[in-house]
Parts: sequence; C-alpha cells; structure tokens
Amino acid sequence: MDERKRRLVIAIDGPVGAGKSTAARRLAQALGYIYVDSGAMYRAMGWKARQAGLDLHDRGRLVALAAATDIRVVAAAEGPRVLMDGKDVTAALRTPEMDEASSVVSTFPEIRRRLVALQRAMAKEGGIVMDGRDIGTVVFPDADLKFYLDADLTVRAARRFQDLRQTGTPIDLDAVRVEVARRDERDRGRETSPLTVAADAIRIDSTARDADGVLRVMLEAVQHVLKPDKS
Ligand code: C5P
Repeated sequence: MDERKRRLVIAIDGPVGAGKSTAARRLAQALGYIYVDSGAMYRAMGWKARQAGLDLHDRGRLVALAAATDIRVVAAAEGPRVLMDGKDVTAALRTPEMDEASSVVSTFPEIRRRLVALQRAMAKEGGIVMDGRDIGTVVFPDADLKFYLDADLTVRAARRFQDLRQTGTPIDLDAVRVEVARRDERDRGRETSPLTVAADAIRIDSTARDADGVLRVMLEAVQHVLKPDKS
C-alpha cells in the first residue's frame, strides 16, 4: 500500500488532566482521522447506571445493563458526540458525579470487555485516534503509534479545575486535587487493565509544554511512521 495513504491507529493514554483529549482531538483534526474519547464511553455507562438508579457497586446488575447498552462516539462539527442507545448524552457526562461514576464502573472487567469490543469495532478502517487508560496496552496492543502523556499532579489538577469552572461547577482546587489523585490511584491499582505505560509508547511530559508543543511531537512521530526513510 502507498505509505502516505495508510490510515493509522493511534493510541494515547495517561492519567487525568495530562492533556490527552486536547492532543487527541487536534491530532485527529490535523490528520483527517476520527477521534474517539474512550473515557466518555465509561462516563456514559456510569450515567446510564445512575439513571437506572443502580448502586454503582452492584456488579451483577451493572453488567446486565452494560450487555444491553450500545455506546458510540460519532464525529460532529462541534466535536465528538456520545450516543447511548442512539440518544445524545454528551452534555451530561462532564460533571464531578460522572467523574466518580465512570471511575467506579470502569473497574469491572465485564464492563471493560463490552466497551473494548465497541472501541475495536470503531477502528476497523484505521484512521483513528483514541485516548484513554488502556488503549495502547489492551484495546490496540498493535497500534501503529502509542503515546503516553503525563504531567505533574499540581498541573493536572489545575487543568481539571479550569475545565470544571468553565462548565459553571462550584468547586475548590484542593478538593479537585484530592479527587484527581484518587481517580488516578483507582486506575493504576485496579486488577483489570490498570493504567500503565506500554513498553513501545512514546512518553510526552506536558507539565511545561503547551498543546502546540505536544501536537508537534506527535506529528513528528506520525511522519516518522508514514515515511520512515525520510527521517
Ligand atoms: O478520560 P476520562 O477522565 O473522561 O475517563 C473517565 C474515567 O473512565 C477515568 O477516570 C477512568 O477510570 C475510566 N477510563 C478507563 N479506561 C479508559 C478510559 C477511561 O478506565 N480507556
């Protein structure tokens, strides 16, 4: 195949507030690829469980609910939309309550299996950038390119604080820092698909790098994969 026309599968992992979604969205835009925010799928699952009035630790009922749920991320002019059983739930997902709900439901292996299957189905044609916690390690272990984005906790908490402030959520920086650290710990410590750095991932520290700087490093790596002989 003509290497320039190859449509890559690109994985981006990292903890809360590392800048994954901004980087993934901009990289996908620059390449004309689709962007899939896998965290939004776990958030949608948490949202559905809450709507159904389930106890988030009731594994049996949660798993049954997940088996009967279809979640898709589709491109739209204003950014990716999350469709749950055909209904657009995007606006309900970026709240502290869904931060917590998604963090809890994502610890169950059956839920992860279901969402991983849906994520793989979205990448069949290639030309995709997906961000999350297990994309390079579990969802696409053979991805063409893997990035692991990280930053100091103080910087990551400040970013999350800004995001929440923009949505009008009343919050306190210290509380956000505690919440970010707790979610990271849950992601790193869970038995199934914990957050780790894939052995073949390119690590990028965004503590002192702005979004343009991160995008530059990623685009250079893409060029290297598409035209290995020219670098
Ligand atoms: O990325 P975001 O913060 O929106 O993800 C919400 C939660 O979903 C995370 O805190 C994490 O626990 C979980 N998640 C996951 N695996 C992914 C993406 C997100 O466990 N691939």
